[in-house]
Amino acid sequence: MALKTDVLVIGSGIAGLFTALQVSEYTDVILITKKNQSESNTNYAQGGIASVIDTKDTFEKHIEDTLVAGAGLCNKKAVSILVHEGPDRIYDLIELGTNFTRKNGKLDLAKEGGHSMHRIVHARDFTGQEVERALIESIKLHPNITVIEDTLAIDLLTEHNANNLKEATLNNRNCWGAYVLLCNQNKVEKITSKVTVLATGGLGQVYLHTTNPAIATGDGYAMAYRSGALLGNMEFIQFHPTSLYTTEKDRDFHTPAFLISEAVRGFGGILRTQDGNEFMEKYDSRKELAPRDIVARAIDNELKRRGDEFVYLDITHKTKDDILEHFPNIFKTCMKYGIDISKNYIPVVPAAHYACGGIVVDEFARTSLKGLYACGEVTMTGVHGANRLASNSLLEAVVFGYRASMDIKDLIKKYESEIPEIPDWDDSGTLSADEKVLITHSTKEVKQVMWDYVGIVRSNLRLERASTRIHNIFLETENLYKKTKIFEDILELRNLVACAHMIIKSAQLRKESRGLHYTLDYPTPDFLTEPKETLIRNTHT
Ligand SMILES: Cc1cc2nc3c(=O)[nH]c(=O)nc-3n(C[C@H](O)[C@H](O)[C@H](O)COP(=O)(O)OP(=O)(O)OC[C@H]3O[C@@H](n4cnc5c(N)ncnc54)[C@H](O)[C@@H]3O)c2cc1C
Repeated sequence: MALKTDVLVIGSGIAGLFTALQVSEYTDVILITKKNQSESNTNYAQGGIASVIDTKDTFEKHIEDTLVAGAGLCNKKAVSILVHEGPDRIYDLIELGTNFTRKNGKLDLAKEGGHSMHRIVHARDFTGQEVERALIESIKLHPNITVIEDTLAIDLLTEHNANNLKEATLNNRNCWGAYVLLCNQNKVEKITSKVTVLATGGLGQVYLHTTNPAIATGDGYAMAYRSGALLGNMEFIQFHPTSLYTTEKDRDFHTPAFLISEAVRGFGGILRTQDGNEFMEKYDSRKELAPRDIVARAIDNELKRRGDEFVYLDITHKTKDDILEHFPNIFKTCMKYGIDISKNYIPVVPAAHYACGGIVVDEFARTSLKGLYACGEVTMTGVHGANRLASNSLLEAVVFGYRASMDIKDLIKKYESEIPEIPDWDDSGTLSADEKVLITHSTKEVKQVMWDYVGIVRSNLRLERASTRIHNIFLETENLYKKTKIFEDILELRNLVACAHMIIKSAQLRKESRGLHYTLDYPTPDFLTEPKETLIRNTHT
């Protein structure tokens, strides 16, 4: 049962859902997602969406805050688009039914680290969940969108898969859909499309500690890499400074660490070492409101200096009513672990949170392959540079998702080429996996290597070690992949390994410390040369 559609959207987070809705206004869409529709990073977003809504705020200030966070690597045009088109997209979300928190009838605007103004539109502390709810309800009403759940995209269909076109050069490559695994039937199908939109979210699961859910295995980056698309700035991984510290017995290795939102620090939360002392003033005059990378490095340093496994975040000086009003979700979750945050300090540790780099796209979310667009966290639009300003990512997903849909509209109208014959998936000669332990073990190993050697603080030696280890796991995984009937875990491991490779390679290319990339061997930015992106492309495909 091969499927055909005009537009294939892969992923049901904010980027996939929003883009699918816009595109469905003029053509048919198939949206596939690997679990159920709501399982995404988006669903976990607490803080909100940054945008210039307050009359006292200005576009110039939001642009400036974004550029400062990006540490010299932002694309100014992309930032300007993000900021100027942001308010319209917020009103689109409201029109689609999102109930953002209001005060006296007006949108309640919060302030977060790195922002000079109150500009965070939010739905209490479950913004992402509320946005997902509204988008999924709108999608259900839309006859042009077919949603297929439990369906995992394996690889993109390009010249590489078409027998007679294998030699096509990277610069002329097209994308015509994807091979997908129907997880419940363990069967691979082919979906051909004129346009494909990758909206597969982030890659936090490549690290041992992450706030990202189990779906965030970097599938989009890996598929794009394998198909020869251009990726950039993969070394810039944002570590959220404050995830709830839990021990191995509290959660298995795929379960995300629970995020203690930035907003708690914005609300007056104080960081303390385990002996109760404040420490942020030693690192930055903005203290707890310094950008995330500075706070994460400060915590990392205190943990290494003292040999501790966590620090505390203290919000006990606020009243319980106040805390419950602002952070009902955080309060409830901490209570599950026996922590009453109105009385007890919260144990916190940094965790991999967001990938600033990704598939290189232009201002209409076009990748380097014809017919392949990408939106949301999986992209490098240029708005984040070397570090993302808090709450700019949900905004990026809707602003560039909207722009993609406008461009796709034109492309579909003019589309004349024939999609070539692409063979069905062939797994003859492969066997069912009876050694799943190999996959579990390798997955844990990738996460540990990345945490220990490619984490908040890096060095040439650590990167070299990581590279060797990951290369070995790559060889073992490819070997297993070729012999085995595919299933979810092996596909995800393969993608994690590809992402680990790209992060390490990009980190090795950057001979300086900048933004989120900090290395002991080059501890300052390179002041002598113009900052530029690290670009990476698989030329063996
Ligand atoms: C805990 C947490 C809090 C956050 N808070 C904020 C915040 O307050 N403000 C902000 O701006 N940002 C926040 N972020 C970041 C933000 O949530 C994400 O960057 C954003 O939601 C990404 O949206 P997306 O649509 O690109 O990806 P996602 O929301 O992750 O969606 C990806 C989708 O792709 C699907 N998928 C993945 N691989 C495949 C495959 N191979 N085949 C089929 N489907 C696939 C997934 O199942 C999922 O449906 C937060 C992130 C986390 C983890």
